[in-house]
Parts: sequence; C-alpha cells; structure tokens
Amino acid sequence: MDCLFCKIIAGEIPSNKLYEDELCCAFYDIDPQADTHFLVVPKTHVASMADVTEAEAAAVAHIFTVIPKLCRDLGLSGYRVISNCGRSAGQTVMHLHFHVLSGPNLGARLV
Ligand code: AMP
Repeated sequence: MDCLFCKIIAGEIPSNKLYEDELCCAFYDIDPQADTHFLVVPKTHVASMADVTEAEAAAVAHIFTVIPKLCRDLGLSGYRVISNCGRSAGQTVMHLHFHVLSGPNLGARLV
C-alpha cells in the first residue's frame, strides 16, 4: 500500500520518532504548527476516524493513554489533540493520526 505513514512506521522513510510500541508510533510533524507538534498513529493502517471499527478500537484507546504519557514525559502543561477526518476537514495523509500541539499562545489556531 502506498501510504506515507505506513512507510514511516516500517522505517522506509525517516522520521523524528518520539515513541513506538506494538500498537502505535509517535513522531514529530515535519511542518510544525506549534512549538511542540507531533503525530500519533496506529500501526495498523486505517484511513481516518470515519473508518474506525471495533478492530481498531483497542489501538485508538491505547493511543489515548500514550498521548498523556508522552505529554507528561515532555513536561507539557497544556496541549491540543486534533484528528482531521476527510479532505474537506484538512486531512492530507490518509492514515489515521492524532496531532498533538503545545506551546505558548496556542489560542484557537487549528491544524
Ligand atoms: P493532516 O493534514 O491532518 O492529514 O496531517 C498530516 C500531517 O503530516 C501534516 O501536519 C504534515 O506536516 C505531516 N507530515 C507530512 N509528511 C510528513 C513526514 N514525512 N514526517 C512527519 N510529518 C509529516
């Protein structure tokens, strides 16, 4: 499958990896929109939130435990989690991912 994030997960494309376990992978966004901006993705390919079924539910739930752990480890006091779902919502990479953004004056800016 020709998927950028699958290739990053497989190590075929380099990334600035922050964390990895059996279910998910976190790496810094190549075009950061805040002082800290990383992405957390399930290792199993699923295109977007719209495609999540019970088969992916455990990985998605797991990601929502990994995000606060990573943010604690990074010493982030506040952060925003966003998942763009569908091209009309700004999704450009069709592999489910959660943006984690943190920094001063984050304001109402979206990714
Ligand atoms: P989205 O627009 O919600 O689909 O988010 C895709 C994100 O992937 C964007 O914020 C991009 O900057 C980021 N991105 C694209 N290519 C790479 C890459 N090779 N490594 C890390 N992040 C990337």
